[in-house]
Amino acid sequence: MTQPPKQLIVVGQGAAGLAAALAAAEEARRTGLTLAVTILDKAAEGEAGGNTRSTPSYMRMVALDRVEESFAADMMAATDGRGDRRYFERLAAEAPATMRWIGSHGVEFHKPVYYLAKGPPRIQPVGGGQAIVGALTKAANAAGVTIRYGCTARALAVEGGALHGVEIESGGRTEIVAADAVVLASGGFQGDPARMREHFGPRGETMKLISPGTRFNTGDGIAMARAHGVDVSGQWDGMHCEPIDPRSKNSAPVVLVYPYGVVVDKAGRRFFDEGAGLVHETWEAFARDIQFNRPDGTAFAILDRRLFDIPDWQRATRSEVPPAQADTLEALARAIGVDPAGLAETVARYNAACTGDASRFDAAVCDGLAAAPGLFPPKSNWARAISELPFVAYPLIGAIAYTFGGLATDERARALRSGEPFPGLYAAGEITGHFYGTAPNAVSVLRAFVFGRIAGLEAVSYLRGNG
Ligand SMILES: Cc1cc2nc3c(=O)[nH]c(=O)nc-3n(C[C@H](O)[C@H](O)[C@H](O)COP(=O)(O)OP(=O)(O)OC[C@H]3O[C@@H](n4cnc5c(N)ncnc54)[C@H](O)[C@@H]3O)c2cc1C
Repeated sequence: MTQPPKQLIVVGQGAAGLAAALAAAEEARRTGLTLAVTILDKAAEGEAGGNTRSTPSYMRMVALDRVEESFAADMMAATDGRGDRRYFERLAAEAPATMRWIGSHGVEFHKPVYYLAKGPPRIQPVGGGQAIVGALTKAANAAGVTIRYGCTARALAVEGGALHGVEIESGGRTEIVAADAVVLASGGFQGDPARMREHFGPRGETMKLISPGTRFNTGDGIAMARAHGVDVSGQWDGMHCEPIDPRSKNSAPVVLVYPYGVVVDKAGRRFFDEGAGLVHETWEAFARDIQFNRPDGTAFAILDRRLFDIPDWQRATRSEVPPAQADTLEALARAIGVDPAGLAETVARYNAACTGDASRFDAAVCDGLAAAPGLFPPKSNWARAISELPFVAYPLIGAIAYTFGGLATDERARALRSGEPFPGLYAAGEITGHFYGTAPNAVSVLRAFVFGRIAGLEAVSYLRGNG
């Protein structure tokens, strides 16, 4: 008698979910396991893909076949030593094989030009996250994976300690779909205002989402697993956010020219060292500070004509709206709604401290062109006077990309309960914790693909009785 197929349910069709479903379908075929794989996504077909669909998908790799030797150590440093070294070592070890595998499904990679400032090495799929979601969805369909859109996972069905299904809501109806194993890949909780307020405090609930796809990540999978005692990991009041132009209609309209001028609040006052580091080293704390501490959650980058002399300066902004420009600081202040007297005083004080040799200015590296000691807050790099007409300004708000707090998993993507694997339950991507302090640059997509694939392979191994 033929056995009924085993059922694998994958919740979420982003990087982690697609990698899990496709890897599982391929591995089941390779090993002769009869397996039905279903992806559930709460978004409609044209919108599913979560954050992955909106990301340029920079991945921290030197080339397709290698990461930096210091990768795991760098991750431990980025997480203030609180990360799980085995998790990051597995990520480093599996990244090349995972990228080769993705490449085998028709995705090409290149070395992208980054914003203006140099950062860690990175590769990028040609066409960004959208291209990779498209290619892996096509491959998953071809491998027999079923995808159900507009289908929200609500709860895990567990009886006598055994996982046997997922409760879903679709078309106004609730049902339980059978599952012998489940991969949770439904992202963080940034799309849920109540959870945002709970973990980040007042103003958490009003934080702008950086991209349209971000809104589907409302912490459902985290709550589903927590309800059955799955452990947590990552910093619950940690998030990755970036400064964006509130006037823009683009997805993720980041404005990353602020290190080259000054940033003021509505009163015209500076409030941080805009040149403390390369832009990806300051953007997170800065964007967060705007949202939680500045009047009306707004700030303004103030520059002058020399912004336009920086080679390829447009690479540092994804806003389609040009900056405000004026021939006097007073007119600029009035145009953007900043106190003119405050701005005049701030710029005068800043200009007086710009005593370094301006010919040293180099937007791509920390150029050491610091303002004179005594300026408060200091400006450690790129300190050039704001004096050449026209004066230029961008309004800025902080926008969230993803949260850090999530589920505890081991280096085999197994969800942990009281430190032990929860039989048949896996999690990968943004839904898992592992990040503390600051987001390691260009790692979130990479880890979603790597651990998504591991979750799919592990689920098949478990279903074949080798778990
Ligand atoms: C604008 C932007 C730029 C970024 N740039 C980079 C970058 O260059 N490099 C980098 O490493 N990281 C970057 N990130 C972060 C990175 O994109 C994400 O962390 C990563 O893509 C997350 O993948 P994921 O599969 O875990 O989740 P997602 O891709 O967000 O997928 C989650 C999916 O789950 C679905 N879902 C949610 N709840 C349910 C439910 N209850 N039932 C069913 N489905 C559900 C959602 O609809 C969604 O499709 C960026 C993020 C953004 C927003």
